[in-house]
Amino acid sequence: MKKITIFGTGYVGLVTGVCLSEIGNRVICIDIDEEKIKNLQKGILPIYEPGLEELLKKNQKRLEFTTDASYGILNSDIIFIAVGTPQGKDGGADLRYVEDVAKVIGKNINERKIIVIKSTVPVGSEVRIKEIIKEHYSGDFVIASNPEFLREGSAIEDFMHPDRVVIGTIAEGVADELAEIYKALKAPIINTDIRSAQLIKYASNAFLATKISFINEIANLSEKLGGNVENIARGMGLDKRIGANFLNAGVGYGGSCFPKDVKELIYSARLNGADLKILEAVEKVNEAQKVIPVKKLKDRLNINGATIAILGLTFKPKTDDLRDAPSLVIINQLLDMGAKIKAWDPLGIEGTKKIYPSVKYFEDIYEALKGADAAILVTEWDEIKNLDLGKVKRLMKKLIIIDGRNVLDKKQAKNLGFDYSGIGR
Ligand code: NAD
Repeated sequence: MKKITIFGTGYVGLVTGVCLSEIGNRVICIDIDEEKIKNLQKGILPIYEPGLEELLKKNQKRLEFTTDASYGILNSDIIFIAVGTPQGKDGGADLRYVEDVAKVIGKNINERKIIVIKSTVPVGSEVRIKEIIKEHYSGDFVIASNPEFLREGSAIEDFMHPDRVVIGTIAEGVADELAEIYKALKAPIINTDIRSAQLIKYASNAFLATKISFINEIANLSEKLGGNVENIARGMGLDKRIGANFLNAGVGYGGSCFPKDVKELIYSARLNGADLKILEAVEKVNEAQKVIPVKKLKDRLNINGATIAILGLTFKPKTDDLRDAPSLVIINQLLDMGAKIKAWDPLGIEGTKKIYPSVKYFEDIYEALKGADAAILVTEWDEIKNLDLGKVKRLMKKLIIIDGRNVLDKKQAKNLGFDYSGIGR
């Protein structure tokens, strides 16, 4: 049984903590957010993630939650840093939370420990982390990288069944010690140097973002030429060299990772004298893609004074995360153009309310559609996929649907008299 402490109880830190306890480790989870910790001590989760609550309850004996950083540092051999690395003002990652943790480690560490960076940090960040720790502590310690690849909405499943575990360290014996933690997962281990490990994370996210922007451009072309992007993606995806994942055309990628990680990679490439031309284009395509539904609506309707139903707020289904969600950009544009907005989402209402208090929010999807002049489908929630279009027809004032995720049956919608428009089909 390893003694592990994790800094940060967000999507990554909490899932990592709970899962590492499930596979036999003793874990102390630390956060500076006192309310979060108090709630976690009572078994109340700060985020929604399928299966997390059950796993937390099951492993209560091996899990501790505290704001006492010193306690966590002194009572563990391995310390994970899993705090946020949001986008900074210049496009690069903001490392202030990671640096805060480094400082607290430096002030409390008393013997050789392994410090594992799980947060997605710019290549080379370990130098700064080391410097900060050394300002307060002159003893021995090791820094390693172990980037995380879980996806929100399937985080437990992803953590427990990873395609690979990446361990970045060349320090004697450390890779084996870290691999031991993950032994029960029976996943391939990639052991490399710390910078390659960090770059594997960024390059993976950037590649997936590229796939999305690529298919979105093909969708826009297919629309002009009269093709169907779904069939095109299927035809491409069955080619094993290409693969079917991340070829769904839509309103662009969002979330807490792809946008900021693509930006950070472009930023640090520039700092180091390299231009990432493909990624610069990927970003531009994505920004334009987010507002395609608004353009489509403008062609069909006078938006000023119109009532628009926005179905889906979170950046993808099965999460409550709204960071960089395309819905926020769409709502912003529509409000600027004088629209009245009725919004529906199973998990994203509370968060969106704080940003857009003037929007009317509905827990019942059909209530959101009642009296609307048009509907924009932004997130592929099951409730949207399974909409009863006959009922929708009776409720809406005008029958305009912009399907930003290509989830409805186009033929059925058209047969019912909807002015239906998807993305690239
Ligand atoms: P998050 O914002 O959900 O959580 C971060 C947590 O860290 C918060 O609870 C915050 O209170 C806490 N924190 C901040 N400063 C602290 C400190 N000094 N001590 C202790 N706790 C502190 O972030 P997240 O989504 O879990 O992301 C964490 C990292 O993992 C980021 O680098 C992100 O890029 C990366 N990542 C995220 C995902 C994802 O899907 N969310 C996937 C892979 C990697």
